[in-house]
Amino acid sequence: MTDYRSTEEKLKAAAQRSVTLVAVSKFHPYEAVMEAYGEGARVFGENRVQEMCSKFPPKGERPEGMKVFLIGQLQRNKVKKAVEWADRIESVDSIALIDKIEAECAARSIVMDILLELNSSGEESKSGFRSDDDLLEAAQHALGCSHLRVRGIMTIGPLGGYDEAIRSAFTRTSALYGRLREIIPYADVLSMGMSADWPIALECGSDEVRIGTAIFGERVKA
Ligand SMILES: *Cc1c(COP(=O)(O)O)cnc(C)c1O
Repeated sequence: MTDYRSTEEKLKAAAQRSVTLVAVSKFHPYEAVMEAYGEGARVFGENRVQEMCSKFPPKGERPEGMKVFLIGQLQRNKVKKAVEWADRIESVDSIALIDKIEAECAARSIVMDILLELNSSGEESKSGFRSDDDLLEAAQHALGCSHLRVRGIMTIGPLGGYDEAIRSAFTRTSALYGRLREIIPYADVLSMGMSADWPIALECGSDEVRIGTAIFGERVKA
């Protein structure tokens, strides 16, 4: 048993609107994925291409409705595999990466949904666009890519931060999302909030949370 159902209930009670729950299964085996699936989970998050491909069946061979989103930093030499396996890439953080994903998708005649990642906390160790303007410039660029659809923005709040620092990062991201939607009216995803900070993210307008630990328990790293 995972805590998918109880997490979903808490989320529903707090949100009172439709919020997507991405069950982040990194470091947990496929058996845990299937347990959560049995409790109603359909969207899973993985942060490494290799792990995603070895854990999940290929796109056409999954249980009904199961989707996998790539949420971790993507190296350009892994884009090929990533577009084959992922239903959405949520961690796009450079124009060079946009071009590479576009090229691989064009070669397969598929259209990929992407989110642009903002480094909203300014922490050096984190990926994501550093400035609002860089992210918007990338969004403009992606509009010219016929095999990509920019669905919105993803961010990771400051880890272990104080509530005020978390709130400030999420408020900034939410404001930028408003500007993104002026450029891309069909953008409909603001992905922020993890096990420790999703209630604050919801208050700041998130409509997708990515939750691992609260559903699957602590990750045991190899
Ligand atoms: C691991 C991870 C999560 C989930 O984190 P938890 O604290 O376990 O809920 C969410 N988003 C990203 C990008 C992650 O890498």
